Amino acid sequence: SSPEDLGGFPRGELCRYGNIELSPSSGVLNYAQGLFEGMKAYRRADRGGYTLFRPEENAKRMRYGAERMCMPAPSVEQFVNAVKETVLANRRWVPPQGKGALYLRPLLMGSGPILGLAPAPEYTFLIYAAPVGNYFKEGLAPINLVVEDGFHRAMPGGTGGVKTIANYAPVLKAQMDAKSKGFTDVLYLDAVHKRYLEEVSSCNVFVVKGGVVATPATRGTILAGVTRKSVIELATDRGYKVEERLVSIDDLIDADEVFCTGTAVVVAPVSTVTYQGQRHTFRTGPDTVSQELYTTLTSIQMGLAEDKKGWTVAV
Ligand code: PMP
Repeated sequence: SSPEDLGGFPRGELCRYGNIELSPSSGVLNYAQGLFEGMKAYRRADRGGYTLFRPEENAKRMRYGAERMCMPAPSVEQFVNAVKETVLANRRWVPPQGKGALYLRPLLMGSGPILGLAPAPEYTFLIYAAPVGNYFKEGLAPINLVVEDGFHRAMPGGTGGVKTIANYAPVLKAQMDAKSKGFTDVLYLDAVHKRYLEEVSSCNVFVVKGGVVATPATRGTILAGVTRKSVIELATDRGYKVEERLVSIDDLIDADEVFCTGTAVVVAPVSTVTYQGQRHTFRTGPDTVSQELYTTLTSIQMGLAEDKKGWTVAV
């Protein structure tokens, strides 16, 4: 293909996992000009082989983020093909059905040297893979969140809506503080009103009240999760009213159920949320909306249920 077909990137190659060479003055090291994605390849239940879940959504999200971070990005086709090749090259590392997945980490970075603040002159796109177990060993284990109103993840006009590496170092301190107090993770509020839910460090959040499922609208400060988008569609299909809107902390306190979604956690029920020192408890276990959506989603991802939406891609 011509260089344009490949988004300006030469055809890639497979190599053994190892260190890469990077200029000390690269854009990524100096100005955090970098993006990543996170995906999973599952071993198929029915007819062997592997499945990816909506990989073109990750490709599109990387392209969207690349525009914000002033980088060229691989085409959707190039991205998906590179992911497939990575899965095949690492097929012996894909865990058995039900025991986890092969996690894939595409990275796009400004790898060329740049001293003054400007986009780097060269870019590198790479993918590495690692087997991961199920996020929660016993399947669906409820998590405990703490609302953080002293730290924020993103500001309007910032980069909260793209998956840049620069969004993750700032949450480490809040996350470590939360873990040291026995919480699983932090739930962030918006930085302007300090009132509306945004997301957790690496997953989106939903609240359920009556038959209504609500999740914060993506207004540029939260990541538009692929799992979030899929769960919205599955919940709608199953007869729930789904609202993407401003969801306040009061809505959460008043909710019957709270759950998180993401590639790593899939669908994780939240059993408690601590806000201003008060612990609020929510329904978990069988007969919950989160359990129903977890089962529906994972059945499609693992090839146990018919994929009527064409979300899975066979490798
Ligand atoms: N929010 C943040 C900040 C994340 O890092 C992730 C993980 N990619 C998500 C939400 C969930 O997105 P997805 O469902 O695409 O994994």
